[in-house]
Amino acid sequence: MKKTKKTDIFTKIVAIVVCFISAALIISATIMLSNHTNEILLRSQTEAENLTLDSINKIENKIDNYTSYVSTTSGSFQKCTNKNEVEMQIEQIKLSSFTERGLKNVRYFLNGEIHGVAPWPVEITKDLGLDYVKSVEHSKQESLFLGTNFDEMPETDKDKVFPVDLYEFYAPVYDNANIDGIALYFDTAVFRSQIGNEFRHDNAVLSALVRDTGNVLIGDDTFQKNTVIDILSELGVNETNITSRVFHDLTEHNRDRILCKINGLNHVISIEFNSATKDLGVVEIYDCGALAKETNDLINAIVAILVIFIIIIIATIAILVINRYRLQKKVNNAEKHDLLLDCLNKYGFTKEAEDILHRESGVYYGVIVLHIRHFKFLTENYGEGEVNSLLNYVKLTLTKTCRIEEVYGHGENGEFLLLLHAKDKEDLIDRLKIHSFLASQYKGAHKFDVAIKYGIYEYQSGDQSPVSKMIEYAIEANNTVTKATVENVDMQFNFYDDELRKIRLINDDMELRQETALKDGEFQVFYQAKYNLKNHKQDGAEALVRWYDKNTGEYNKPALFMPLFESNGFIEKLDKYVYTKVCEYISYSLQQGRNVFPVSVNVSRITATQPDFVDYYTRIKKKYGIANGALTIEFTESFAYENYDVLKTIVDRLHKAGFQTSIDDFGCGYSSYRILKELPMDEIKLDKFFIDYSENPERINSIFESVISLAKKLNMKVTQEGVERPEDVELLKKLGCDVIQGYIYSHPLSLTDYLHFVENTKDHNL
Ligand code: C2E
Ligand code: CA
Ligand code: CA
Repeated sequence: MKKTKKTDIFTKIVAIVVCFISAALIISATIMLSNHTNEILLRSQTEAENLTLDSINKIENKIDNYTSYVSTTSGSFQKCTNKNEVEMQIEQIKLSSFTERGLKNVRYFLNGEIHGVAPWPVEITKDLGLDYVKSVEHSKQESLFLGTNFDEMPETDKDKVFPVDLYEFYAPVYDNANIDGIALYFDTAVFRSQIGNEFRHDNAVLSALVRDTGNVLIGDDTFQKNTVIDILSELGVNETNITSRVFHDLTEHNRDRILCKINGLNHVISIEFNSATKDLGVVEIYDCGALAKETNDLINAIVAILVIFIIIIIATIAILVINRYRLQKKVNNAEKHDLLLDCLNKYGFTKEAEDILHRESGVYYGVIVLHIRHFKFLTENYGEGEVNSLLNYVKLTLTKTCRIEEVYGHGENGEFLLLLHAKDKEDLIDRLKIHSFLASQYKGAHKFDVAIKYGIYEYQSGDQSPVSKMIEYAIEANNTVTKATVENVDMQFNFYDDELRKIRLINDDMELRQETALKDGEFQVFYQAKYNLKNHKQDGAEALVRWYDKNTGEYNKPALFMPLFESNGFIEKLDKYVYTKVCEYISYSLQQGRNVFPVSVNVSRITATQPDFVDYYTRIKKKYGIANGALTIEFTESFAYENYDVLKTIVDRLHKAGFQTSIDDFGCGYSSYRILKELPMDEIKLDKFFIDYSENPERINSIFESVISLAKKLNMKVTQEGVERPEDVELLKKLGCDVIQGYIYSHPLSLTDYLHFVENTKDHNL
């Protein structure tokens, strides 16, 4: 138990510590993770910026070729002094090597007007309201301009009129009255191929050269769409705050990094513009995790280690908890288990019975304590093996007796516990009778009768007593000797009832008064004379104790107080007191020259087993100068049966000290002929039971005859107790009985009455 408690505390401490550690780990892991996620995001934004810058720088280099050509070309117009020279110069440009780079047309501006031949007439451009307006607008800006293309021209019109997409580069011509600026138009496809795909990064989800309108010039064929916003939508990025920011960044030529989620993963949209690329920008999308791969791998490793660690901790806790649970279960089972009989023990029974009564609270139940009679005697005389086989047998009978929602358990010292339901008290007794019958069928190596007494507590609906209390009451019912049990030694079914409660109160009261009563002389010795059938004279007397009740003036019989004194040990004092009083009477009477008959005194098993018993009785005998043979000590048959060896020594010593010995109540219980044969008793007193059967005399007479004949052989005097009827006297005479004791001759008498009775023995007549 103690060990379990220690383990318990240890487990608790370990569990708490482990919980704290894992909680700390989880918290720090979470913090680390969120820190590192932030770091990944920051790092990936910087990384994306670098990559996109790299892309746009590459594009810038390519575009530089065009812009520097265009600006050189614009320089060549400065020397033109009239319109013709301007137009000639334009024709020159058209023939230049730049046609390889897709140069398709050249026009010039003067005073807000567009001039020059084109693959498309100025009028149409004007009508469409597209290029013309923009180009004129541009011409007002006195700087190099890049950027208009005609991809945006409606499909139908484009098909009808212009088969080629063109890209316009504008450059101003300074300080010339014939020309304000020129515009060079390049084939978009050639322009694209000139820029090429080298700027693109392989690990990018998207890497595109876009117009500030969001149209993709050079992109990725995997996407169906050709505007940045549509591509984002295709990737599942639809949040307006993101798309509008992208849109805004493009129109405003902002450099920007925007975080978004694609398929639940962090991505960064990276946008770059620069002065050289004008209205062309680069839009790239990167997976943050892939960008910050090293950091990410590190974190993943840390997280993996942490997860493994946490799993180990959780597993450890789980194992601890399971072990504790198992241990507890084991302890619980052990606590409830009887190892000897492999069934429930008293504690286990109590717990089970509590559960059953909780479930079946409306049913009439009996909580029963079964006590195997003379269990100690059986153990001492027949050994553990025999007793264990008896216990196993009783257990088997209980297994057979128990039904559903009933239970039994094994207590100590020949005690079993049983919970049975029944219709009522009678029904319960019927069931117990069946059990009693089953138990009596035991066949052991040593032939003895199994007798069980049942202490019964009746449970009825609404009873709140704990089962442990019910067991206590049932034991009390078994132990308290009531009037009924005194009259019927074999009383089997002892119910805990109101009478028992009353008896307990009376016993408590008597126990309180016993010592004072002894001092105050409330215990008085009565004498019952015996009659000798052979010589027709008085044959001694038996001393019988009475307790005088001052309040009622009655003499209470031993049946009221003997069981209590036997259980609390006071009997020893009382026996010695009665014995001393008897010695006192004999010596006093002899001194007065009175007629004195031998006296028999009763000695309980408790008194007889005291180490000083024989010495004490001998000392008192000597003290009062009582002659040998004047005192007989009566032992009960049950005591003789259960303490055979002890009694044999006692009897020998008593004989040496001049006492006579007698075996009392013979035939009421054990009737062992061994006692008769081997214990050298002087007298055998037959229980009243023998003559109670005289109405059906055949069987009992034969036993009687054999007992008497054996007693005769052994030279023992045979006395019959409780003789009340003349016909019994006749029968006893015939059978050869020596002495009778009973109301027919004399009732137990007070000393005064007895003295008087003895004085008049001559008048004695049966
Ligand atoms: P016991 O030793 O068997 O005593 C005989 C009992 O039978 C006495 O009961 C007596 O009054 C009663 N008796 C005598 N003749 C008749 C009869 O004709 N008919 C009936 N029905 N009963 C008769 P009592 O005096 O009530 O004593 C009961 C028992 O108490 C005794 O049984 C004895 O075992 C015990 N006892 C009495 N005095 C003492 C004592 O001083 N010490 C001890 N240890 N036990 C005592
Ligand atoms: Ca007696
Ligand atoms: Ca007797």
